[in-house]
Amino acid sequence: MAHAYVAELPRHLSFSQVSNLLQCGEKFRLTRVWGVKELPGWALIGGSAVHEWTEIYDKISMGVALPQPTFEQVFEKLTVEAEKKSGINRRDFKCSGRATKAFPDKESAAWWLQEGLSMCRSWVTFRQNAPFDIWIDPKGVPGIELACKLSLDDHHTEVVMYIDRVMVDNRSGELVILDLKSGQPVKVDAQLGDYRIGLEQKYPETQFRYGCFWYARTGVTSPIFPLNEYTYGRAEHKYTQAKRIRDAGIFLPNPGQQCGWCSVADHCYAVNGVLSGTVRPPWVSIPDWGRAGDE
Ligand code: SF4
Repeated sequence: MAHAYVAELPRHLSFSQVSNLLQCGEKFRLTRVWGVKELPGWALIGGSAVHEWTEIYDKISMGVALPQPTFEQVFEKLTVEAEKKSGINRRDFKCSGRATKAFPDKESAAWWLQEGLSMCRSWVTFRQNAPFDIWIDPKGVPGIELACKLSLDDHHTEVVMYIDRVMVDNRSGELVILDLKSGQPVKVDAQLGDYRIGLEQKYPETQFRYGCFWYARTGVTSPIFPLNEYTYGRAEHKYTQAKRIRDAGIFLPNPGQQCGWCSVADHCYAVNGVLSGTVRPPWVSIPDWGRAGDE
């Protein structure tokens, strides 16, 4: 079945949208512009389940009246949602990671049910023992999944952010922006830096000078990074340039190792995917594609 052009690209950007755009423009074009459905992966479902379970746990710990589901219940709910959205049975979902003796199918649903639960337990231990408390904002909202809308370039560029946690470091009284990572450690703190700018625009009276990642696989944090290098001007440059690339439709493929686990590789012309003929390639004009009877 040929894909029809679907995208009315949203006005706003997000950190992940810009990361995806810069990692592989063709993947961005396929998923965001043409609406190609991605093959669901257990890493995304499992990671989202860890995020959701810990979010509920923290909200309850801050006095929000919510039922605490089990990790298995959250995982199952997200699996069903992914099946519905993709139209693909869970049997065919993608497994990432390495095969081991205990898990020859790599990081499958079975792996996530065991390890995801362990990650949630590590978060509980971390919350009980680390010298961090959840920050409460001036309106009394706890710093859990805080939503910010960063406005740049005289309101021409908007960046939507959901910040996992803002914590208070009890040793120094400083605020620390914290992002939960259920995958491998990351080497750059740019995401935290962008969050700093978003938070400082939302809370101009408050300083957010530090940030760290919490690694669910080990249960410990990264070093605490100073974020003073991340300024409004730097964020404005990054997001306005990315928006120009996106709005001009400059989507170049970036074939490499990541193609091995790419969720839309079947539709990608750069790797001669078996379904690549269902999406108009960028070098074919709309009238020519229409004449070919595919639109
Ligand atoms: S297969 Fe590779 S080049 Fe193609 S969209 Fe995926 S990541 Fe990009």
